[in-house]
Amino acid sequence: VYVEERAFAYEKTQTILTRLNRSNVIKIGHYKDLFNRPNQDYRAQKESMNLILAVKEEPFFYKGSFYSDAFEYKNYFYTPTMLNCLYDCDYCYLQGMYSSANIVLFVNSSDFIHSIETYLDEPTLIAISYDTDLLAFERFSGEVREWLGYASTRQNLHLEVRTKSANFSAIADIVPNPNVVLAWTLSPQDIIEKYEPKTPSAQKRIDAIVQAIEAGWNVRVCIDPMIISDQEVNNYRALVHTLFEQIDAQKLYQLTLGTFRMSSQHLKQLKKYAHTPLAFYPYSVKEGTVSYPKSLNDAMISKVLNVVTEYIPKTKVRIWDAL
Ligand code: SF4
Repeated sequence: VYVEERAFAYEKTQTILTRLNRSNVIKIGHYKDLFNRPNQDYRAQKESMNLILAVKEEPFFYKGSFYSDAFEYKNYFYTPTMLNCLYDCDYCYLQGMYSSANIVLFVNSSDFIHSIETYLDEPTLIAISYDTDLLAFERFSGEVREWLGYASTRQNLHLEVRTKSANFSAIADIVPNPNVVLAWTLSPQDIIEKYEPKTPSAQKRIDAIVQAIEAGWNVRVCIDPMIISDQEVNNYRALVHTLFEQIDAQKLYQLTLGTFRMSSQHLKQLKKYAHTPLAFYPYSVKEGTVSYPKSLNDAMISKVLNVVTEYIPKTKVRIWDAL
C-alpha cells in the first residue's frame, strides 16, 4: 500500500491500513508521481495491483458521459473517488486510460460528498461507481456506506451504485433509500468467463440482486454491454429466464439493455492493451463512437427484449440505441 504523506491524517487511511495490516506501507509524496509515471507495464500491474491512498483536489465530480444514460436528469454527474477497478473486463475502457493499473482510493471522501451540496436545490443524480466498482471494494473502503448515509439526509441527492460484485451483504444493514438505485451489470456465464475475468459468477450476482430486491432497494439490472454473436443470443435469452425465475419481477425497478460501444479513442487503447477479440471486431464508427452495425444491434436488442417483456412491461426497460 502506497500512502501519500498528507493522507495519513485521514481516519479512512487509518481504518484501511488496519484492515490491510499484513501489507507493506510505503510513504509517498504526490500519488501522481507514482500513478502517472510513463512506461509502466499495465498488464503486469493488473495481475498484482497495489493500492494507493491519496487526497484529491478539486474537481470532485464531472458531467456524466455521453456513453452512459442520464436517466432524464438535468444534473447528472459522476464522481471518481476511486481510480481503476479490482476487476479486469476485456471491454473496459479503463485499460490505457491511465498509465497504471494500480488502484487509487481518495481518502477525503467528505470533500467529494460535500462538494455536491451546491447542486442540491434540484434533483441531482450522481453515479458514484462509474469508472470503477466501489461495492467490490466496500469492505476496505466503506465508500458506498458513506454516500448512502449522506443521501439519506438530502432529499434531492439521487445515487446510482453500479456493480458487478456479489457484495450486497456489505451494505445489507442500511435502510433502503428510494432515491438510490443499486444497479447490477449482468452477463451470461459464458461471457463472464470469456470477457469479465475476476468478476463474480452470474449466479452470485443474481443472489445479490435477489437479496437487494427483497430488502426493499430499487434494483436496476443492466444487461449491458451485450456482446453480439450467433451463439450468444441464446445465452442472453437464457440469462433473462434464469434471472426472472429467481426474482420477483413486480419488484424490479428497471432493466437496461445495451450493446458494446466505446469511443474510437478508447478502442485504440484497447487494441494496444487488451489483446481481446472484442478490440478487433469490424465495428461501425460514427462521430467518434464505435458500435455494432445498427442492423445487428437492433436485431440483438429486439431478440432479448422479446424475452424480457415476457416478464416485465416495456415501460420498465431502457435501451441504449446504436447511433
Ligand atoms: S467492472 Fe466495470 S470498471 Fe471494473 S473492469 Fe469491469 S468494466 Fe471496468
